[in-house]
Amino acid sequence: MSDNNMVKIKDVVKSFGQHQAVKNVSIDIKQGEFLTLLGPSGCGKTTTLRMIAGFESITSGEIVIDGKSVASQHPYERDVNTVFQSYALFPHMSVEENIAFGLKMKKYSKAKIKEEVERVLNLVQLEGYGKRKPDQLSGGQNQRVAIARALVNNPKVLLLDEPLGALDLKLRKQMQIELKHLQQKLGMTFIYVTHDQEEALTMSDRIAVMNDGHLEQLGTSREIYETPKTKFVADFIGETNLFEGEVVDSSEINAVASVEGNQIPIKPIDGLSPNKDITLTIRPELTWIEGSEPSNGKPSLQGKYVENIYVGSVQKVIVALPSGKNIVINESPMNASDLSPGDEVNVCWDVDKAGVLTS
Ligand code: ATP
Repeated sequence: MSDNNMVKIKDVVKSFGQHQAVKNVSIDIKQGEFLTLLGPSGCGKTTTLRMIAGFESITSGEIVIDGKSVASQHPYERDVNTVFQSYALFPHMSVEENIAFGLKMKKYSKAKIKEEVERVLNLVQLEGYGKRKPDQLSGGQNQRVAIARALVNNPKVLLLDEPLGALDLKLRKQMQIELKHLQQKLGMTFIYVTHDQEEALTMSDRIAVMNDGHLEQLGTSREIYETPKTKFVADFIGETNLFEGEVVDSSEINAVASVEGNQIPIKPIDGLSPNKDITLTIRPELTWIEGSEPSNGKPSLQGKYVENIYVGSVQKVIVALPSGKNIVINESPMNASDLSPGDEVNVCWDVDKAGVLTS
């Protein structure tokens, strides 16, 4: 593993009959990294994980784990373990027996098994629960047992397929932080599958966003959220306002596009030229409302105030543009709005805070 990559996914394709579920995906995953495969249902993330685990064959391409191509290896020969959403615990066995199962198969001594079971129960904060059966535990506790059972084998890579999907929101958020801390403490490579973008942003070192079988973007949580490279990523991660536009003028230091019938300053990214189609992505939390057009040259769109939606941490202000399209602005609930429906307002943002997408 000379290049510090624990898992290399190289140009991997998976076809089910005529259907390509995974299309030429390449990802290098570093030792000790928390990498998340994120995307909507059916985008191919579980299939990708199953190919790493060895539960699914690869149609073409290669997967390398710890420097070895795994094409000819059975799942049990790979240095990986998988945690599923469904826990997959043996109901008639106690927590200890569930965790010890794999070690017994490997003919570990009783003393070693006891020591290892205690070690992992401690890691997942379930000391004292060893004698219980799965039906005497909560969903969150059962998922901890499933994680402990996977960790007891000391795999080089832990694969997790929507492991928190069955838990309620509060427990899920708590477990996200716990799992992240556990991964950091162990320094183990985690490959995590979820369709929940907030979960991915919270836990991951890097996120691989997948769409319709292909890799849309690979980057840190911050890169994916703040500088999405495609319309799909901008729309899928967080909430955003997307506007189609056309470049009117561009130079190295500034650019202007026609958006919603207005000439709007945009960020002068590479590759812009007059008449080029672009999409502007404007996050609701990076916009604000002013009564009159900003005099400082900041971009703005004029529209009519529609309504305020209170969602607790923010209030969403909806403004209708002349085209009929709405734009959403997040404001602090402290800013009680005295606007009435139909009032003319200007929605403003900083030019460098709106993403310019060309694909
Ligand atoms: P979800 O979040 O719903 O689990 P996913 O992103 O994990 O979705 P996959 O389960 O990888 O998606 O499925 C990707 C595509 O491959 C889907 O269109 C699915 O129907 C198809 N697929 C998966 N497994 C098989 C199979 N064994 N036979 C045929 N098609 C399959």
